[in-house]
Amino acid sequence: MLIPCPCCGPRSVAEFTYGGDATLVRPPADSTDPDAWCRYVYARANPKGAHLELWQHSGGCRCWLRVVRDTANHTIMRVELLGPWAEAIERKRVAAE
Ligand SMILES: [Zn+2]
Repeated sequence: MLIPCPCCGPRSVAEFTYGGDATLVRPPADSTDPDAWCRYVYARANPKGAHLELWQHSGGCRCWLRVVRDTANHTIMRVELLGPWAEAIERKRVAAE
């Protein structure tokens, strides 16, 4: 599987670290609802098809990415940079094209 890093181009999945489900919403820090925390920490869907995930290019530029991946065939449908520097990197990449 290749993941097209916006900074480095297409790279092997071996260079990336899976960061988890990007659709999870953390309960408020002051929440004392054990069910909400249990769902956040342990409950995971196992969807077939498009899934929003976090990946870090840990063997490359170390940027965090939000990736839409088809879990049935591992097709990468969309990749976007995350973090406060994402906009600046994207502007630089577009200017270089
Ligand atoms: Zn990269």
